[in-house]
Amino acid sequence: MNIAVDLHIHSALSPCADDDMTPNNIVNMAILKKLDAIAVTDHNSCDNAEAIVKLAGSQLIVVPGMEVETKEEVHVLCYFEDVDKLLDFGELIRTKLPSVANIPQIFGNQLIIDENDQIIGEREELLISSIDLSIDQTIDEVYSRGGVLVPAHIDRSSYSVISQLGFIPENLKNGMIEISRDCNILPLGCTAQNTFYSSDAHHLWDILERETFFRIDKLSVLCILRGLEKAK
Ligand SMILES: [Zn+2]
Ligand SMILES: [Zn+2]
Repeated sequence: MNIAVDLHIHSALSPCADDDMTPNNIVNMAILKKLDAIAVTDHNSCDNAEAIVKLAGSQLIVVPGMEVETKEEVHVLCYFEDVDKLLDFGELIRTKLPSVANIPQIFGNQLIIDENDQIIGEREELLISSIDLSIDQTIDEVYSRGGVLVPAHIDRSSYSVISQLGFIPENLKNGMIEISRDCNILPLGCTAQNTFYSSDAHHLWDILERETFFRIDKLSVLCILRGLEKAK
């Protein structure tokens, strides 16, 4: 089956995302747009993941995820089979963040929001920093939890594997690679078959229409993960 996805969306937990990127607004917008599956991938954090998965229920598949910024300032999308595995990974990432406090007036709010869209807390440390794990160490931590790692927006001139490392790490070459929505020329090593784009939405209106499709056997998180793993 062919499913429509948007696997890179930021909630109000990411300081750079709008405060109205609440669990209800994201889930309802995705349903309105008739998407089959989404992933909310906040910067180095996942405190809103449980609320989003709960809200989506059986109406929408939510792949538990996070956008990590590695020591090399590479952005990678980390996806897991269930929220527990993501939360466990999130606990590790929390210990790898530099102890720099967020300044909401400059960077924006980092809101923790429940399934009723009530603000129940705020992350104190600045989430848009590089963590104390290399890309290889991050890959190991994701794989040890059965997760999948996708290099993010690799055509961008900053925060991508190409801009920071100059190459795609060997152990990621067989999986899917994310390009940005406005990518015109595919980077070296990329083909139409092993690349896809998501919205990287920081505003509600950025969430994709039915435009990025995945061919999978069954509509489930596991099948999406297997699809991301094996591109070729
Ligand atoms: Zn990014
Ligand atoms: Zn992003």
